[in-house]
Amino acid sequence: MLDKVIIANRGEIALRILRACKEMGIKTVAIHSTADRDLKHVLLADETICIGPAPAADSYLNIPAIISAAEISGAVAIHPGYGFLAENADFAEQVEQSGFIFIGPKPETIRLMGDKVSAIESMKKAGVPTVPGSDGVLGDDHVLNKKIAKRIGYPIIVKASGGGGGRGMRVVRHEEELVEIIAITKAEAKACFNNDQLYMEKFLENPRHIEIQVMADGQGNAIHLGERDCSMQRRHQKVVEEAPAPGITEEIRRFIGERCAKACVDIGYRGAGTFEFLYENGEFYFIEMNTRIQVEHCVTEMVTGIDLIKEQLRVAAGQPLSMTQDEVKIRGHAIECRINAEDPVTFIPSPGEIKRFHAPGGLGVRWDSHIYAGYKVPPHYDSMIGKLITYGENRGIAIARMANALTELYIDGIKTNTALQQLIMDDENFQNGGANIHYLEKKLGMN
Ligand code: ADP
Repeated sequence: MLDKVIIANRGEIALRILRACKEMGIKTVAIHSTADRDLKHVLLADETICIGPAPAADSYLNIPAIISAAEISGAVAIHPGYGFLAENADFAEQVEQSGFIFIGPKPETIRLMGDKVSAIESMKKAGVPTVPGSDGVLGDDHVLNKKIAKRIGYPIIVKASGGGGGRGMRVVRHEEELVEIIAITKAEAKACFNNDQLYMEKFLENPRHIEIQVMADGQGNAIHLGERDCSMQRRHQKVVEEAPAPGITEEIRRFIGERCAKACVDIGYRGAGTFEFLYENGEFYFIEMNTRIQVEHCVTEMVTGIDLIKEQLRVAAGQPLSMTQDEVKIRGHAIECRINAEDPVTFIPSPGEIKRFHAPGGLGVRWDSHIYAGYKVPPHYDSMIGKLITYGENRGIAIARMANALTELYIDGIKTNTALQQLIMDDENFQNGGANIHYLEKKLGMN
């Protein structure tokens, strides 16, 4: 097993990784910015190293500082968590070149999946269903582009190949708009991602967001751990996630899951990963792959009983997967609400000191968070301060448990989105299951 691991992240995921390491007897090194000395995992780690000032660019995104910290501490591996450098192929490469284990896929896999055109291309080859589209990067020939769009059928969506975070994409409903929208998206893609390559896809009007969790050991074994429904979104940001997805039968799960697992073997995938799909009228359409652990991995853990972070650590240590596909069983239902330090109506971030705090509890309630009474939420990073997860024998019980747990969650001193989550749990359409990705914004009167 790994002897000592650097946790190259902060907040709840850093604490989650620390807990897994401790249970496995792995020594931990917490690296942190000057703004994060009081983070819970920093207080609990075996060793801590301050790697720079508060701005992420100078600390959590500072590759030389992180690699120096690894060298000083004598750690053998680096866990990137999610966000920050987790999907940065150059980081993974430099980690490996410096003689450390990167807890994630090989750098070339991250690079392949980070470029959406090459990702879609390799998924098609592997037999994963994709969105009908331009089959590659768009050129400058307007006539040809119009022809491609017509073949796909309007509305279409123009997307940046290097895009992320819900940026660099625009919908085109009529041919007259096409040339101008391509020009605008190209300029934006160049400015935001330093890559002006674009492609085109059919725009799906009312899809759900359903994703498949996979785990592979890079030694020829890959399995899927079922799906999650993450359709409750605001500005392309997930708000509530659940597993399994309402209405997805064992047969459908096997169909799409097996294709994803096979694709992992085909591309030599290693570690935890997620295939994201849009799901409309009973069909799956691949949109991208996340080559890391995700925020919402917990709902999969609850319904499978598998600790995904421990599995990541085992695979990184060179061990084969600890279970076969047949051993993965989906039982019951789990829901996750992201708790953010923000105004529940305006969504403006609300950093500051947490004066009093009480965590919910009881059967089937899980609270993954780094906050405590007296902790100051810094203004420099993402506003998510915790994840409330409930589990029940069925979806109704999980929802009722969540509604109850939300009323028990008490955070005084800063604003949180707890009221918004309560609103969603009380919503009849959410309770019925299967709402699409636009539902929450419509409910909030955003469109
Ligand atoms: P990013 O990497 O920026 O998150 P994605 O490709 O994952 O980009 O798309 C983000 C979101 O944009 C999707 O969850 C969906 O809401 C919307 N979207 C992307 N592609 C399409 C499409 N072809 N049709 C409809 N909506 C889409």
